Amino acid sequence: MKTWIPDARNFAYLTWKQVEGLPKDETLLILPTAAIEQHGHHLPLATDTLINNLLLGNALALLPAEMPVYALPPICYGKSNEHIGFPGTLSVSASTFMAVIRDLGASIAASGFKKVVLYNTHGGNTSLVDVMCRDLRAEFGLRTFYLSGAGGAKMEGINPQESAYGFHAGEMETALLLHGTPELVHPEKYTVNYIAQIDAPELLLPENGPATFAWLTRDIAPSGVMGDPNPATAENGERWVKTAAEKVAAALTAMYHYTNRFQP
Ligand SMILES: [Zn+2]
Repeated sequence: MKTWIPDARNFAYLTWKQVEGLPKDETLLILPTAAIEQHGHHLPLATDTLINNLLLGNALALLPAEMPVYALPPICYGKSNEHIGFPGTLSVSASTFMAVIRDLGASIAASGFKKVVLYNTHGGNTSLVDVMCRDLRAEFGLRTFYLSGAGGAKMEGINPQESAYGFHAGEMETALLLHGTPELVHPEKYTVNYIAQIDAPELLLPENGPATFAWLTRDIAPSGVMGDPNPATAENGERWVKTAAEKVAAALTAMYHYTNRFQP
């Protein structure tokens, strides 16, 4: 898989003797979580994994060289059962996904590290990563952090409808890959589909509302796309990678400097 992680920030490129020599109390490890799942007719299965790596790699490049922050190899397989029925979607169960994070947390703690960031770019993993962030804290005493997608960066220029309901293979993901891996985007295969309309408020929303319904993609988006990829440009993708990388780098810096609010 293509990577943007600087070699000097790639944990798996170290030897065990180099790991032994790291300052364990302050080193920040990042465990990326993503997915291999359908992304419509026009984007590759690895979209969430590639975006994770693209944003994280650009963020890591902004950190001062002396700050000990390393990216672990990603957990590429996520809980993607909402996309089952589309060939190529490779999903693991919630219990498997959480067990892998728990086992890696045990190994990280056994290696002597104290600080771990779970960096997630797949919506189907969100609630599980949130649970595991607290469980790793409670079970192993690791100082854990959760970081999501663009780190709160605003994607300037996306219209309100796309912003609200363009959450899978829409303008943003397409633009990021038009910048990062243009050879993997198929613009002649774009399809458009919205689950709901922003100007026709409904009580039951697919996500982010007080009352929601559990959806499977095949129920609501025959092509697999939720959003409109047509306005996507490589130029916007490049701009959004830059603003997201700045936010992600700022969050990682805050996590690196974080200390307990209360010292027992
Ligand atoms: Zn995606």
